[in-house]
Amino acid sequence: MKVYFVGAGPGDPDLLTRKAERLLRNAHICIYAGSLVSPAVLELLPQEAEKHDSAKLALERIMAICLEARARNIDVVRLHTGDPSIYSATGEQMAGLDRRGIEYEVVPGVSAFQAAAAALRWELTVPEVAQTVVLTRTPGRTPMPEGEGIEGLARTGATLCLFLSVHTIAETARALAGHYGPECPAAVVYHASWPDQLIVRGTLQDIAEKTKAAGIKKAAMVIVGRIPAAEGPRSRLYDATFSHEYRQGVE
Ligand code: SAH
Repeated sequence: MKVYFVGAGPGDPDLLTRKAERLLRNAHICIYAGSLVSPAVLELLPQEAEKHDSAKLALERIMAICLEARARNIDVVRLHTGDPSIYSATGEQMAGLDRRGIEYEVVPGVSAFQAAAAALRWELTVPEVAQTVVLTRTPGRTPMPEGEGIEGLARTGATLCLFLSVHTIAETARALAGHYGPECPAAVVYHASWPDQLIVRGTLQDIAEKTKAAGIKKAAMVIVGRIPAAEGPRSRLYDATFSHEYRQGVE
């Protein structure tokens, strides 16, 4: 018996891994992470599968369901949106399973930041401009650890992908404008890859207002970075004069 922590991806079932799809189609028990797992993904579960919405469950109850499943020798699919390694509270669940001697495996998924970048058709790493991508959030009821405040991260100039933070977009954009400049591109993608996906493009100066006007309050990624509008700087990878392992450069 095993518990599978499965990445449900951002929403579109075509973005599931083959392993995730196979596990979902054969599931007997599925504990899924509330409203963020898309209905289209949940539809892959067999009709008769036992389904639990974890938004309503405390950790102890999740553990109890796993223990009951072990007693019946039935695998559990623990379905998390995007990738289970990011803002999914999987650490405490894995520790709980360790303590109870229950085996588990993690199946990665496409994260919301990737789906948002795809929707925007943005490359998040820009040669000579930003070679680092930061996955972060603004503080909510979970405070940010010392040294991870938005101002400190902004000082690096990295491309920032903000989860769980669209409700603080006004303060965030204001703070970031001091480092990236008010004209820096910023975007908000609501329900990336869902049928009702919504994209708001702007700059640090106007993104908060545009997001408010679009009525987006949750379930959205915020991405801020010096992404060039059309033709940006060229990478060395496809530069004709640049040699690498697979290609001899020409002068
Ligand atoms: N593990 C998930 C993140 C869970 S935290 C992942 O890797 O994507 C939940 C936050 O993820 C939301 O507040 C939102 O910021 C983001 N999110 C999840 N699904 C999304 C989607 N389809 N489109 C945009 N943002 C999404």
